[in-house]
Amino acid sequence: MGMLEEMAVSFDPEQLIAEFEVMTKDAERVQRETLKKILDENGATEYLQKWGLDGRTDPDSFRTCIPLVTHEDLDHFIKRIVEGDNSPILTGKPITTISLSSGTTRGMPKFVPFNDELMESTIQIYKTSYSFRNREFPVGNGKCLQFIYGSKQFKTKGGLAAGTATTNVYRNPLFKKTMKAMQTPCCSPDEVIFGPDFQQSLYCHLLCGLILREEVQVISSTFAHSIVYAFRTFEQYWEELCTDIREGVLSSRVSVPSIRTAVSKLLEPNPELADTIYNKCKGLSNWYGLIPELFPNTRYIYGIMTGSMEPYIKKLRHYAGELPLFSADYGSSEGWIGANVNPNLPPELATFAVLPNIGYFEFIPLRPCLDGLKQENCTSLPGETKPVGLTEVKVGEEYEVVVTTFAGLYRYRLGDVVKVKGFHNSTPELQFICRRNLLLTINIDKNTEKDLQLAVEAASKVLAEDKLEVVDFTSGVDSSTEPGHYVIFWEVSGDASDDILEQCCNCLDKSFFDAGYISSRKVKAIGALELRIVKRGTFHEILDHYVGLGAAVSQFKTPRCVGPYNSTVLQILCNNVVKSYFSTAF
Ligand code: AMP
Repeated sequence: MGMLEEMAVSFDPEQLIAEFEVMTKDAERVQRETLKKILDENGATEYLQKWGLDGRTDPDSFRTCIPLVTHEDLDHFIKRIVEGDNSPILTGKPITTISLSSGTTRGMPKFVPFNDELMESTIQIYKTSYSFRNREFPVGNGKCLQFIYGSKQFKTKGGLAAGTATTNVYRNPLFKKTMKAMQTPCCSPDEVIFGPDFQQSLYCHLLCGLILREEVQVISSTFAHSIVYAFRTFEQYWEELCTDIREGVLSSRVSVPSIRTAVSKLLEPNPELADTIYNKCKGLSNWYGLIPELFPNTRYIYGIMTGSMEPYIKKLRHYAGELPLFSADYGSSEGWIGANVNPNLPPELATFAVLPNIGYFEFIPLRPCLDGLKQENCTSLPGETKPVGLTEVKVGEEYEVVVTTFAGLYRYRLGDVVKVKGFHNSTPELQFICRRNLLLTINIDKNTEKDLQLAVEAASKVLAEDKLEVVDFTSGVDSSTEPGHYVIFWEVSGDASDDILEQCCNCLDKSFFDAGYISSRKVKAIGALELRIVKRGTFHEILDHYVGLGAAVSQFKTPRCVGPYNSTVLQILCNNVVKSYFSTAF
């Protein structure tokens, strides 16, 4: 049995926690050893030779010789790998699989190398957070209703397997073994997870979960958006689902033969179950507490709820009733970073303890906050951008994450901003703040995804007065007017009055607290903010567009800003605008 397989099948949560404690007590040494291992394995690569590392493996030489890079800097190396050049370019062992990152931030997926070591760290992270979670909320011999979706895998020109990172993970036999070891295998058969039609897969995930409703102990997805999306869909199709269960015949909506065959096998007429579900749904007010009603033995809900997923927490809580929500771990297609080992923190406050043996980590300090509130807008300290090591970070400070991985990325800027909230032994616990890049900027104003999120949060309180909610949102800059202005697109759950939407628009404009924005608005260097309301279903159309491009629903993050680089999305939005309002707040 290979090392990987051994890891997956033998699994004792308490032993794993003990190992985690030992490792994190000695994070600095583990980091040195991890760097040495990475550089020993890959010292002969073209990339490391090019920078003259000459076989040295210590942190000082590494940091002196190797430059900080972004994905763009590595594009041409990765391109050669994708095209089939299997000489040691970035890694000693040839790369055989490529991950497509969700790419929703820049409008198109990007390629990153994937290998066994990344798979190994994925499993290690899953097991670590599971072990801590399981101490508080043990699950056993149940099922997990997982809203996960594989995307198509294809071969690159050079013959490498390519797919999204989550697909590479779900397809891996070890992932399934790990789920089994955690005693919560997925409710749905593989044909559903890997089905070619996302809507049909989603319908069947719901159906498979309902059939096994008493056994479901955990409800999860990679990103929380997928869970919220699934239950919004349930609201639409619940009667049809009940009919399928009553009659034991799968709806004609599911037309993909492989999915039909696999799911039909699980269905048999069960009028009693159909009645139970039907009556439970009828008894709910506005779907509050839907999840525990449908799945009475659910212990918790699990998925990434931080960062761009935060706006969905409120809706998730509504569906979850009293059930606990646990935010999942922190990572990216490029590599994993930290595990959530404090499951009791509410998802908004989730932190991630960095695993010091899965990569070598550095942190670029960001400018200390000037007004106490707007750290996320900070830029690097001039002349002091020198990154610090994992154990040198300071509590309360914000940093940009830099990773060196076993899969050929060296001193790679991930573009994420994190804040150090504390330490678990000697490894830091990070809070995810936002993506580094600015979303909205016209002149001296600087607003990030987080700023947008906070403004939308404030304005949606006004909308709540009409008992309505923001289903999803994005933004853009309209520079066709003089001066340019911010445009916020909202999909709203029902018909709001003009009066309320005007108030929402003013509130949005007033809720960007960035001094650059406020002063520019005052002197009319930025025009009045515009709120455009789009038709119901518009964001669904956007998701479909990305899925069509090869993105995985499991990794989908609504782009929070649309610009010329994703003009199709902009077009979808503009075609669906039903009303628009201009702020009169300044
Ligand atoms: P992808 O490009 O699809 O691999 O997504 C990776 C990005 O998702 C990261 O760089 C983060 O910006 C974001 N992300 C991943 N995990 C989390 C998390 N736990 N909280 C917030 N954002 C996350």
